Amino acid sequence: MRFTQLLLARVMPPVVKNFDYLVIGGGSGGIASARRAAEFGVKVGLVEQARWGGTCVNVGCVPKKVMFNTAMHAEMMKEHKDYGFDVKCNGFDWGVVKKSRDEYIKRLNGIYESNLAKSKVDTIVGKATFTDDGCVDVNGQKYSADHIMVATGGYPFIPNIPGSEHGISSDGFFELEELPKKVVVIGAGYIAVELAGIFNALGSDTSIMIRYDKVLRTFDSMVSDSVTKNMEDDGVKVIRRTQTTSVKKEENGTLTLETTGGQIKDVNCLLFAIGRNPNTQGLNLEKQGVKLDSKGHIIVDAFQNTDAKNIYALGDVCGKALLTPVAIAAGRRLAHRLFDNKPDLKLDYNNIATVVFSHPPTGTIGLTEEEARTKYGDDKIKIYSSVFTPMYYAVTQTKHKCSMKLVCLLPEEKVIGLHMVGQGVDEMLQGFSVAIKMGATKKQFDDTVAIHPTSAEELVTMR
Ligand SMILES: Cc1cc2nc3c(=O)[nH]c(=O)nc-3n(C[C@H](O)[C@H](O)[C@H](O)COP(=O)(O)OP(=O)(O)OC[C@H]3O[C@@H](n4cnc5c(N)ncnc54)[C@H](O)[C@@H]3O)c2cc1C
Repeated sequence: MRFTQLLLARVMPPVVKNFDYLVIGGGSGGIASARRAAEFGVKVGLVEQARWGGTCVNVGCVPKKVMFNTAMHAEMMKEHKDYGFDVKCNGFDWGVVKKSRDEYIKRLNGIYESNLAKSKVDTIVGKATFTDDGCVDVNGQKYSADHIMVATGGYPFIPNIPGSEHGISSDGFFELEELPKKVVVIGAGYIAVELAGIFNALGSDTSIMIRYDKVLRTFDSMVSDSVTKNMEDDGVKVIRRTQTTSVKKEENGTLTLETTGGQIKDVNCLLFAIGRNPNTQGLNLEKQGVKLDSKGHIIVDAFQNTDAKNIYALGDVCGKALLTPVAIAAGRRLAHRLFDNKPDLKLDYNNIATVVFSHPPTGTIGLTEEEARTKYGDDKIKIYSSVFTPMYYAVTQTKHKCSMKLVCLLPEEKVIGLHMVGQGVDEMLQGFSVAIKMGATKKQFDDTVAIHPTSAEELVTMR
């Protein structure tokens, strides 16, 4: 044995197990990829340092949707009277829904774990780190694998300002034991919009503090205009062009925020939703030759290959289309490519539909009008749009408009973008996303007979 091999053999523990496929991160992408790979009869290991299911199940989509549904109850209750119901609400108990939500998630954690066992995936609990010799260490045990995939997701970013430790992130939102009286949410992205909307609907005095003039600035301008307006109409205070510079906790437990626009006092909950960082620190990735971008995301090609041979990455840790179904789809395709003899299989990241659970919700797919005009030129783009009041509001005092926009590419008017804000659009989008993915034209939309009376019919009758 040469001297360096002798040295490595003394420093490195021996390999306890060899896998065909070792996945780091038991979230949406990791679980989906590990289970799919196991279907092809290969030996799969999956490492998770916290709870099975990752962000989506524990502190993301799932508990968020439960809280959105809770907020919907509060909203519809206001309209019960207009529909003739004489019901009185004697209050709202945050603790009741939190308890059942936590129990539901615990059940899901268990289901994920037992599904992994049924799929014959070896589960390993602990924090994984690459060893210098290209294996993976978990709790001092060393594992080797022919293929290693990293799906370690991300975590919420908290700004480095004095007193920021008194604020919470979206993770902290799900730990709240009661509805805070006065809330300031900082951020303009979808998580800020969704959580501010929930607080507001359930009765918190809610502000959203943004750096510019509108929320959801990267969305189609119709979406960002409508959602910002709807939030204000619903009573959310939109604090524009303002940044918090420090936070102080007062003796009575409330927070005082110093901002570029003055002081905000008596805040019971400050929530930062200003972005997420990738979980790449401490993995020893650079030593393997895995390249990261300036924000720490793993750089991958279209096939989820990193710069290191036989090391792959997908999902939030790569920083592209941070959505559960994206991580799942990329993970499954990678498993097919590696172990099911489908060498060309990869995820198409174009035309991914997404919903923001704003009040009312937002659904969007494809290019925004602004992106389409930049990409193809004004003379190649035709826009169809419509603003109307859904029939649900025919007899109610509250009226939320529904806005829809189709972005079409001339001359054949291929629909390359669809954007909507309004009641029910969250459930409307999936079907239309199939049509758009298939390359449908406006004429094909129009050839489809409408379903009446629905809001969706507007999409096939727009002139
Ligand atoms: C508040 C909120 C709401 C959201 N709502 C939606 C929504 O409505 N729809 C939607 O599609 N998406 C939503 N998302 C995004 C969605 O949750 C993520 O896109 C998705 O979870 C990404 O999956 P992933 O597998 O890449 O990472 P994750 O699900 O984050 O899983 C990564 C896992 O890796 C583990 N891990 C990290 N480092 C290590 C290590 N060194 N060793 C072992 N394990 C490790 C982590 O503990 C984690 O469990 C939401 C996110 C948030 C925060």
